[in-house]
Amino acid sequence: MTITQTSGGQAELTARYSNALMNTFGAPKRVFVRGEGAHLWDADGNRYLDLLAGLAVNALGHAHPQVLGAISAQLSTLGHVSNFFATPTQIALAERLTAFATVNAPGLEARVFFTNSGTEANEAGFKITRRTGRTRLIAADGAFHGRTLGALALTANPAYREPFEPLPGDVTFVPYGDVDALAAALDDTVAAVILEPIQGENGVVEPPSDYLRAARELTTAAGALLWIDEVQTGIGRCGAWLASAASGVTADIVTFAKGLGNGFPIGACVATGAAASLLGPGSHGTTFGGNPVAAAAGLAVIGIIERDGLLDRAVAAGDRLAAEILALHHPLVTAVRGRGLLRGVVLADPIAPAVAEAALDAGFVINAPRPHVLRLAPPLIVTDAELDTFVAALPGLLEHR
Ligand SMILES: *Cc1c(COP(=O)(O)O)cnc(C)c1O
Repeated sequence: MTITQTSGGQAELTARYSNALMNTFGAPKRVFVRGEGAHLWDADGNRYLDLLAGLAVNALGHAHPQVLGAISAQLSTLGHVSNFFATPTQIALAERLTAFATVNAPGLEARVFFTNSGTEANEAGFKITRRTGRTRLIAADGAFHGRTLGALALTANPAYREPFEPLPGDVTFVPYGDVDALAAALDDTVAAVILEPIQGENGVVEPPSDYLRAARELTTAAGALLWIDEVQTGIGRCGAWLASAASGVTADIVTFAKGLGNGFPIGACVATGAAASLLGPGSHGTTFGGNPVAAAAGLAVIGIIERDGLLDRAVAAGDRLAAEILALHHPLVTAVRGRGLLRGVVLADPIAPAVAEAALDAGFVINAPRPHVLRLAPPLIVTDAELDTFVAALPGLLEHR
């Protein structure tokens, strides 16, 4: 009999994982079998408070009944066609995303290319920039834009890049948040500048408040596109559909993914103004991108965030969480960065990986994007009482080094 065995404890499943999966992620820290709301259960029956949400993905937590309903209704009606054809869900979601991307310029034309991930959304953006007739790109030190070759070319981390060079493009990296450095690097050979509103993977790093506005003015003056990567920060994570909207800018390209499908794979590249027409027939494609089930998930997520007031809730919960952590006055906590429910707890010592490990043992899923930084990106539905259990545990977790 062929065995399709999905039961078993964590030790057994972890051993099978190592034999069957490429070792790109290191040994898995847990094997999870179930989720509900802000909680996860591992294969040994232990429960965890999920303060990472699948890396800023599960905005509505696990097994949200209305997301489930939307996905299953769409799947049982029409699960897939192909991009020779259109579906109503795909059109409706595109209309929502174009409205988000033009919130500071209502009426500006905007169009969407759907993908299955953030890196693919950025590949689409990369191809748009090539259609400007210029090839130089500017990205920021510390930037993370994904792992396919085009997105990797825009990602700063040498450990990710160097094994795969030569990478496409002619990419210049400038210090993040430094307007003068950006101005000095920009000229009429630059096709686009790509920036994250907050650098999540770099440890939840925020630029000065005038940075995106200055980047908008400088790119416009140089005839270059401004491309904002909202893959991690968008769709409510930071308390708005776009974390960049508060700075008043309208980007030429906006990319989304993580929070959009609540775990159902989906990404989107939105281009505005003249950039919306740079990709024409035959210039790009995808089999799954714009799949009606993924689009139904995206529409459900947006509708529920709206209905339940979760943009405001993300701000209130995030501000309160940051204040409570700072109120511990713990000597190892030097700052809490970020906005909404994307937060970085900055530590005085490089103990974040050990603290994240201890948190897991104590029943909290968090991560350490940098040696000095703990990242918290809980579902937007997390309660204050749930967050308080983590704050209460934090001093004990910081004993682990
Ligand atoms: C995660 C991330 C990506 C890549 O998304 P994937 O879905 O993992 O390909 C791109 N940009 C940013 C800012 C991200 O955080």
